[in-house]
Amino acid sequence: MISFKKERGCLIHGSVLLILFFLFACATVPLTERKSFRFIPDSQLLSLSFQQYSEVLKKSTLSNDPMKVQMVRRVGERIAKASEEFLRESKMEEDVKNYKWEFNLIEDDKVVNAWCMPGGKVAVYTGILPLTQDETGLAVVMGHEVAHAMAKHGNERMSQALVVQLGGMSLSLALSKEPALTQQIFMGVYGVGSQVGVMLPYSRLHESEADRIGLVLMAKAKYDPREAIPFWERMNQKGGSRPPEFLSTHPAPETRIKDIKTHIGEAMKYYRD
Ligand SMILES: [Zn+2]
Repeated sequence: MISFKKERGCLIHGSVLLILFFLFACATVPLTERKSFRFIPDSQLLSLSFQQYSEVLKKSTLSNDPMKVQMVRRVGERIAKASEEFLRESKMEEDVKNYKWEFNLIEDDKVVNAWCMPGGKVAVYTGILPLTQDETGLAVVMGHEVAHAMAKHGNERMSQALVVQLGGMSLSLALSKEPALTQQIFMGVYGVGSQVGVMLPYSRLHESEADRIGLVLMAKAKYDPREAIPFWERMNQKGGSRPPEFLSTHPAPETRIKDIKTHIGEAMKYYRD
């Protein structure tokens, strides 16, 4: 926790910058080892995430098809186990404690979507199941979404949005005195406001990072990563004039499949191990 006193603003501001720099220097994305700019404390992000996730569940109809629900949980748990192993192998074991995994299937055949909030809170919509077709297809989606959470892409997007919104205001002041602002930004980034699931699109960089890490996660969970290619081809065919939510937040140009092909070899090493 960063303490703040108005009369010592300059000094504190300087130390906040130092802390920011320290956090920035330390924040590394697993696998790609990219340095990422993110500074929202895990504790704050997780409490927002857990609270908003239960809100979404309350407002949604959960599937009562036991076969499908069990499939979502089975795939989810295998991907979760793989991601915790992967964090330990990447010397990021301190992150493992932040995950309170939960996998829910929301009944809505019109919504072709799935997402993972910070701390491993996952929702899959029944509308995406015809495209995933089987467990391996679902593992592509789950691996990709969990990869966004593992790489903390949401924190990075929120950090960027906070900097824009704050202008000159001190970060520590904003985080402690303006929880509403942080919450509002969280809602925007994760799309949990009035229109559930209308998330801000990820950047190209975040997408390709989530694809690459996701392939490794599914491979470690013993799902064939080569199946990612036909899945994204099915997704692209579903595109057209009104692309599904999953495609509008996950822009999928032809180059995506080309990029995935270049990373299959890396993932296959984990699959064969
Ligand atoms: Zn994505």
